[in-house]
Amino acid sequence: MKKIFCNIFGHHYSVSKKVTSHIKEYKCIHCQKEVTTDVSGNLALLTPELQDINRTLEHIYQRRHTATQQVA
Ligand SMILES: [Zn+2]
Repeated sequence: MKKIFCNIFGHHYSVSKKVTSHIKEYKCIHCQKEVTTDVSGNLALLTPELQDINRTLEHIYQRRHTATQQVA
């Protein structure tokens, strides 16, 4: 039922995880389909490979962010 809704009206994504200030992961509130922002800024299906890349980016981003805070 919910998937049919998405097929007709399109997915309704909400941010499920903020990876960096530019990259976020989204989940459809109706069918739980997960997508992410890819390097070119488009939405791509959240594959295990992309999830892996995001975890790495998140790690680097948080380390940088923490380092900046310590300097300031
Ligand atoms: Zn959906």
